[in-house]
Amino acid sequence: MKKDAYYSENWYQATDKFFRNASMRGDLRWCVADGHDFDIPYVLIGNGPNKVVINSGIHGIEGYFGSAAQNMFLDKLARNLTPEMQAKYTFVLIHAINGWGMQNRMREVMDNKHGGLVDLNRNFGIDFNRPETLPQNPKYELAHDLLLSKPDAVAKKNAIKKFRSEHLTDGAWDAISHGQYKHPYGLFYGGSAPMMENKMTMHIYDEIMRDATSLVSIGLHTGVGRFDRKRGRVTRQLLVSHPAEHKNTKYFTDLLVATAVIPDERAKNGPVLLGDLVDCLETRYGTPEIPVYTADFEIGTGEFPIMSPVYKRMDMGDARYDLLNHGHISTQTFNNLTESWYPQSPKWRDAALDGAWILFVELIHNLKQQQK
Ligand SMILES: [Zn+2]
Repeated sequence: MKKDAYYSENWYQATDKFFRNASMRGDLRWCVADGHDFDIPYVLIGNGPNKVVINSGIHGIEGYFGSAAQNMFLDKLARNLTPEMQAKYTFVLIHAINGWGMQNRMREVMDNKHGGLVDLNRNFGIDFNRPETLPQNPKYELAHDLLLSKPDAVAKKNAIKKFRSEHLTDGAWDAISHGQYKHPYGLFYGGSAPMMENKMTMHIYDEIMRDATSLVSIGLHTGVGRFDRKRGRVTRQLLVSHPAEHKNTKYFTDLLVATAVIPDERAKNGPVLLGDLVDCLETRYGTPEIPVYTADFEIGTGEFPIMSPVYKRMDMGDARYDLLNHGHISTQTFNNLTESWYPQSPKWRDAALDGAWILFVELIHNLKQQQK
């Protein structure tokens, strides 16, 4: 298959492709829920006790790349998993966790019951039963009004850029993306209850982990900034949510040489992001006997290191301004949002799959060498 053919136009097409590919290669299963339109298919290849999970689309629109990468894995790599590999490992691909977001080309999911745009990757493992114990993010407040101000290609961009330079060292710039539980239409909102997609995801992981002796879990992501045909770059990084000396970071650094493994030194005293899946998996399943290694693979889209994060936050804020003031997202904002997470450029799409290819090939090759 040509690489381009791994991409889809919408969630239905992507899910159909995954279903047809996956049923030829392994044990295809579905996670379905009452009243939920978007079932989550996943496939198990092999039956070993060491689980290797690759999930996609936790941020809806990023699932276009994730789905394509998973289809490439099934088409080109799954058949090379030897019987020995399949006895030692179970490879699991979880397809498009946020189906609504993928179908609507949004990163988040709309919470029709409680209101707001929920970032599923800030919704995991949060105790919503006691609202007074929800994590606080007071520094986010400093940026909220600016981010949700009226879209303006020049003035707003410059104001956000200025905010960034003024708050790079006091933590307020970073705090924007950490997650917050106060403003349903604010950025990186973690919701007010566990979302159905999150419950389904944990259900799938619980089933996978029932007879597990170890877990390697990698989420496929794209984004961080509007793509510029001239200056936009494809970057590929494996983001480990721990400092360099942490055992997870060391594990991935040893496992992967061709993919940059990026530690997070801010996570010295605990997780930086609130309610994200990788930390939730470590807490839920990790024991001294059952090591759990988790990371997010990020394909970048834009102008690093300054303008991408500025555009990303501006585009998200503009979408919320549009929704709150006009009830829908304007065409301009929608196009900007799309370019931030799923650029139209065929070159970008091609190079993004090359990045996934390098990751997958190296992952399989080095897991084969590993003795447990
Ligand atoms: Zn993402």
